Amino acid sequence: MNTQNFKQTIEQAAKKIGIDLIGFASKKRFENVDAQHNPFSIFPEGKTVIMVGKRICRGTLRGIEEGTNFGDYNRFGKNWLEDEFLAVACYDLVSFLEDNGWEACPLFPNPSELGPQGVSVADGRPAPNVYPDFDYAAVACGLGEIGLNGIFLSQKFGPRQRFHMIITDAEIEESPLFEGTVCDACGKCASSCPLGAIDVKNTKEIDICGKKMTVADINYDICRSCENGACPSRLAKNANPDRIAALCNRTCICHLEETDILDNKFENTFRQREEWSVGESKNRG
Ligand code: SF4
Ligand code: SF4
Repeated sequence: MNTQNFKQTIEQAAKKIGIDLIGFASKKRFENVDAQHNPFSIFPEGKTVIMVGKRICRGTLRGIEEGTNFGDYNRFGKNWLEDEFLAVACYDLVSFLEDNGWEACPLFPNPSELGPQGVSVADGRPAPNVYPDFDYAAVACGLGEIGLNGIFLSQKFGPRQRFHMIITDAEIEESPLFEGTVCDACGKCASSCPLGAIDVKNTKEIDICGKKMTVADINYDICRSCENGACPSRLAKNANPDRIAALCNRTCICHLEETDILDNKFENTFRQREEWSVGESKNRG
């Protein structure tokens, strides 16, 4: 089977398994990534990275948008989504690849900002654990872009998805990089933040496989203590917090739905009443 036909076969299998997003990147797209964060440090004979994603259902954010239920997002939108629903889907696709004779190494989205936790086992090998940057990989697999708010955005769901990674020795035709634009630099993520944690006057350009994106300076120390829906990382104290359900990102969702850019459309708007917030209002005047 040629690489294109095999890709279509995998995509069909992924759809049956319930994977919402799938993208492929060759090893070449990771050649400039340092060994400590490079997926091919984990599987040097690997040829392809596959990113598999499932949506964070909009309804999992409802309780936080209303300020009346914070626990169920943590389960359905975060912990169970990563640990159970997505893990099972990823593992089923790993099994599918191995049924076809290709080794497939599944990776959980551990925070890439975690440093090594052990010592190198031999000269020339990075210290364990190598934790790849999943946002980099999702862009490299053509699934979307990083928005001004520093969060990965797809055209299908905006910021509402989570990923697992598979590294395989199967050579698979890579996906084209995403050529569109989801983030229109409206700045509403920053202006909605009551703590002034997103500084749109200070930005940096990031370049992933030639795709250039502008990201605002974000003070994650402020976000770590944010009570507007942000959650501290459950995996590491020093890792960046999960901001998907935070006010900044819920405002981004409202904006992207208004601009009609997202493929996943709803009958009713997400925000039904004035947003609540806790903390200083440095940006709102
Ligand atoms: S709120 Fe606007 S500027 Fe911020 S990430 Fe979303 S689209 Fe981009
Ligand atoms: S997580 Fe909280 S503090 Fe950080 S940018 Fe969003 S709303 Fe602001």
